[in-house]
Amino acid sequence: MTNPVLSLENVNAGYGETQVLRNLSLEIGAGEVVSLVGRNGAGKTTTLRTILGIITPTSGTVAYRDEDISAIEATETVRRGIALVPEERRIFPELTVRENLELAALGGADSGNALSLEEVLGMFENLAERTENSGSSLSGGEQQMLAIARALVGGAELILLDEPTEGLAPFIVQDVMDIVRQLNDRGITVLLVEQNVHVGLELADRNYVINQGEIVYEGTSAELEADEDILEQYLGVT
Ligand code: ATP
Repeated sequence: MTNPVLSLENVNAGYGETQVLRNLSLEIGAGEVVSLVGRNGAGKTTTLRTILGIITPTSGTVAYRDEDISAIEATETVRRGIALVPEERRIFPELTVRENLELAALGGADSGNALSLEEVLGMFENLAERTENSGSSLSGGEQQMLAIARALVGGAELILLDEPTEGLAPFIVQDVMDIVRQLNDRGITVLLVEQNVHVGLELADRNYVINQGEIVYEGTSAELEADEDILEQYLGVT
């Protein structure tokens, strides 16, 4: 790929003595939606933490826009335009929806691409109806929307989504998927971590399959969908 936005090359990383990622390489082009799918404990969240800079690789490189960010701290990677929306949907429960967004607009990236509050509320109807409600009063799906909205008002250009559909009712899963499509329409690059391979297949241009910290497969959604061996062996789809 010429000029990927993000590339990981032979990354080894983990927690103290515990190695989790093994020679992991992946690339994401500008405006792509790429999924990273794999079973529980395969190393998906660890990959996102390593990209953001919460974990520093023991070897290998993480490059963002052709700059080596392997040893850069999370506060700085966020300033450069990368945002992580974690599985636990980190929002401020005691603040209102509006306050959550205003606070995110103050921090975030120097990208100059931050969406205004009005633009974001235009994308997220549910949130627009609840701007004065507290974060804690939102449903799981709405909290997920708010977490994504925070990344947008913060000016993120690469959004790392960690299991955005986890624990949500099927009709809300569809809403979250629509939002990911809208992000893509706006030219935002997305790395989507999913245990639910069907969500990945439906949304992603390309997919990586991770198993025990190693990338074991890379392919388009059409290719992965047709590869029954990979689906069965690494993703438990029969
Ligand atoms: P899940 O869907 O369960 O979140 P995952 O693919 O995201 O799975 P990771 O959370 O990256 O997997 O975990 C990969 C491995 O690292 C697991 O064996 C896990 O037990 C281990 N691990 C995760 N966090 C820590 C930690 N803080 N300290 C030590 N080991 C950890």
